[in-house]
Amino acid sequence: MCAFACRAECAEFCCGGATLITIDEIRKCCDLFPISVGFRKYTPLDASHRDLLDAVGVPCRGRFVVGDFIAGNRHIARCLALNNGSLCSLHGTDRKPAQCRLVPFSALYPEERQDILFDEQRKGKFARCRGFIGPEDAQHIVWRGERFVDQSYRRAYYDYQRGALKQASLMRQILDGLRGQEAYGEFLSGEGILEVAVPASLLPQVLDEAGFSRGEHQSYVQTQWRLCRRESVRTEGRNPVLEDCAAELERCDMQCASHAGESASQERTPPRESGRDG
Ligand code: SF4
Ligand code: SF4
Repeated sequence: MCAFACRAECAEFCCGGATLITIDEIRKCCDLFPISVGFRKYTPLDASHRDLLDAVGVPCRGRFVVGDFIAGNRHIARCLALNNGSLCSLHGTDRKPAQCRLVPFSALYPEERQDILFDEQRKGKFARCRGFIGPEDAQHIVWRGERFVDQSYRRAYYDYQRGALKQASLMRQILDGLRGQEAYGEFLSGEGILEVAVPASLLPQVLDEAGFSRGEHQSYVQTQWRLCRRESVRTEGRNPVLEDCAAELERCDMQCASHAGESASQERTPPRESGRDG
């Protein structure tokens, strides 16, 4: 049995610079967060977990590498959606990411094994979280008998898992493009996250699958370029991955323009010349 109630006032412990989103959430978040990709390694707990990881990731040396979209800047301490009172400005809206609605659980573990993750989170990453409640508090039981009984957690769990399945093929293509790079080798032999930019060659496909029309691609590119540039040069946490993201977006911007039949000499606003906000 797992009882949990987020108390919100301690958000500084869990709302660091970035959160995870799926391809289905890019459209809702792309005007607020710079978006990159992060790969992590997971060790399966059992056969059902192995099946789930196999569906969303890539087997590798007895583990699985799974890619998610990262929304925000991992090099800063506060999520860009936190307001001055340290509350989430997206709370109560349909823009709040599924992973944020699901903490301290994860959609990359089977529903019937969430209690194991819950106990690990309580002792580890969420040791200072005040949301863990004794099982005697029936009002806040979220998970019981191998399933989420709280419908909002259940929805967030399946929303995220649907997105993870939808984006799996794109993530495999991005990962394939990294093979042979030094950072990829270091990631495989170590722990932690491999964070990278979405390559320009795959961005149109990502945007198509995220539900953008072709006519919206260029506006996405320009908005994201501004966010990536702004976040990549923050004094408290320069972020080289977001610099890479900005470079890939510039490449993509040129491709978008040529797909739209524009010549290089036509008047348009390239990302480098568009309004900067910081
Ligand atoms: S630390 Fe825990 S209780 Fe506090 S805001 Fe985060 S999830 Fe909620
Ligand atoms: S989106 Fe909201 S809940 Fe999620 S990390 Fe940011 S502030 Fe926290």
